[in-house]
Amino acid sequence: MSDITFLGTGGGRYATIYQMRATGGIYIKDLGRLHLDPGPSALYGMKALSIDPALTDCILVSHCHPDHYADAEMLVEGMTRGGYRRNGKLISTCSVLRGNDKFSQAISNYHQSLPEEVISVIPGDKLNASGMTIKVTPTIHSDPDGVGFRFETRSGSISYVSDSEFDESLVHSHRDARVLIINLTCSTQTKIPRHMHTEDAARLIADIDPEVAVLTHFGVGVLEEGVEKQVRIIENESKVHTIAANDFMTISVDEDITLQRAE
Ligand SMILES: [Zn+2]
Repeated sequence: MSDITFLGTGGGRYATIYQMRATGGIYIKDLGRLHLDPGPSALYGMKALSIDPALTDCILVSHCHPDHYADAEMLVEGMTRGGYRRNGKLISTCSVLRGNDKFSQAISNYHQSLPEEVISVIPGDKLNASGMTIKVTPTIHSDPDGVGFRFETRSGSISYVSDSEFDESLVHSHRDARVLIINLTCSTQTKIPRHMHTEDAARLIADIDPEVAVLTHFGVGVLEEGVEKQVRIIENESKVHTIAANDFMTISVDEDITLQRAE
């Protein structure tokens, strides 16, 4: 069984600044324990759910925006027991690890010296971490080095599109995922280039046709317009069972897919 815990479901500038939702990323427990996109409030969320950062064996950062990387250095310290035990993997993009034309590096050289392995990835890469095979998928986003991930777990594929606008390459790389996690930063009315909005999310979900689609990373436009409204639009258009994640919710993927919402 794989458990997917949402340590936050907010994203984009203002939802993050004002913590309209938590922004601590996604924690996947399968054979290992992997932390994906630890934005600000990741540590706080782990404390609230009694998840020990020292048990994490892999940290992934999909691109160089602070709502995805802000707590990463502290979590590297957690994974390596304060920096005193070389442990775990840090997997990210060139933009996060070394910087690119648009961004300076987001994780210091010191913190990159602490894990057992630091791996810089590009779309198409395939690697093993936390007991799963991880395929690196493309995105179309304002960080040109940004990526998504597809996790091949014991319970089937869990796909994380990350921040991206609609593109045929996404359909191809996430096809047949059991669980498809979409970062719905904008509604159709509040769309911004290189981010996913409701109408395109419906199209993407319909084309990929997962068992369950999970929406997260809600920006201020989505939160103000109503998350459940976006779910209804997407389910209507795509005919795929769609769930809006909320903070600290856990989805268990086994033969069945079940969810436990936080109190
Ligand atoms: Zn982004």
